[in-house]
Parts: sequence; structure tokens; C-alpha cells
Amino acid sequence: MRHGFKTWAERESEGYRNSLQLSKTAPLPARSLATHLGIPVVDVAAVPGLNQSVVSELLSTGANAWSAVTLPVAGKHMVIFNSAHSAQRQESDLMHELAHLICKHTPATIDISGKVPWASRSFNPEQEKEAEWLGACLQITRVGLLWAIKRGMNNEAIAEFYGASIPLVTFRRNTSGVDIQFRRTQKFYGHPQNFADVDRRVQITVALNPKGAERTDSR
Ligand SMILES: [Zn+2]
Repeated sequence: MRHGFKTWAERESEGYRNSLQLSKTAPLPARSLATHLGIPVVDVAAVPGLNQSVVSELLSTGANAWSAVTLPVAGKHMVIFNSAHSAQRQESDLMHELAHLICKHTPATIDISGKVPWASRSFNPEQEKEAEWLGACLQITRVGLLWAIKRGMNNEAIAEFYGASIPLVTFRRNTSGVDIQFRRTQKFYGHPQNFADVDRRVQITVALNPKGAERTDSR
């Protein structure tokens, strides 16, 4: 991944929340982001003019073969999603497509011979990596992940809160370094039950030491 991309992706993810008047730790539904970006998101079953037998194939036996696709329509873009997938999977599918658009990746090419009888993005490993990374950041910001872990939320609770899949949460935890950061914080404080206790402890320390206790954590 090109230098600085990961930092940029985090900043974008926080920036879009800011534009939508959400906090950095808030969930950002993919459809809200799409609306903000002016990109229509359409259920494949509702695509006008698409043959009913093709729709049935795409939602049943062919459902595992595709996630979502972005089509250029009159100089703009439209994302068509696979409504056979779970809500959590749809979130990551949609964010992935929006990430491609935000990154201004190479436009889709028409691939009629493929399994899916319409446009599919020509596969570019570098661009796919970027879309995967940014898509995941958009779903859960690094500060949001750290906030959730500090609150003692497990992967299931984090997934539920962000409307994300468990694999997405695991991916973010494994690649963002938040667990290492959290363990460092724990070392400093011992193993607090929760962070309300930590705050109280800091306040008590400050009260006992009028000059003020140095806080060495990064919160
Ligand atoms: Zn992609």
C-alpha cells in the first residue's frame, strides 16, 4: 500500500463522520455515507430492466459469486448491492464500493463474458487492498475501536454496535494495533474493571497530589 495511505484512510473516516455531524467513534451506516456522496445504492432486485431470471440467479445460486458492483450511469456512479447477503455483509460490501469511489480508482470495465452478466471492476490487487482497508476504516474508525475496547466490549458487541460483521471487527483489531495500545494503557493503570474506575482513580490521585498527577496514557 502506498506510503501514507493508512493514515489518510483514518482521517477520511473521521472526516466523513465530522461532515455528517457524527462523533469519531460513532457508527457510520454505508447508506448514509452513500447519500452524503450523492451515490445511489440500489438493490439488485430493483434494477430496472434487469431480466427476472437473471435476478433470481444472482440472488440464489449465484449469490456467493458477487458482493456489490459500481456502474457508471450518465457520468455518475450507482452501486448495486446483493440483497441476498446479511445486513452486516451488505455494510462491508457497500463500504468497499464507496471506498473505491472515494479513492477515485480506475473506472469499472464491462465484462460480459464473466459469471456476472454486467460490469465488474477489472481486478487490480493494489486498488482492492486499498478499498478493503479504507472500507474497513469507514465502518469502524481506529479511535472508535479503541473506545469500544476500553469499554470492555467484545468482538460481538463491537460488531453489533457498528452494524459490522465479526470478521470485519477481527480484521480491524488485527491490523490497527489498538490492542497493543490498550495493553500499554492497562499496564499503566493495572487492570481496571472499567474506565469509570480509572477516571475516579485519576481524580483521587489528583486530589491527593495538588500539583497534579502526570497522565502518561494517550487518551
Ligand atoms: Zn473491489
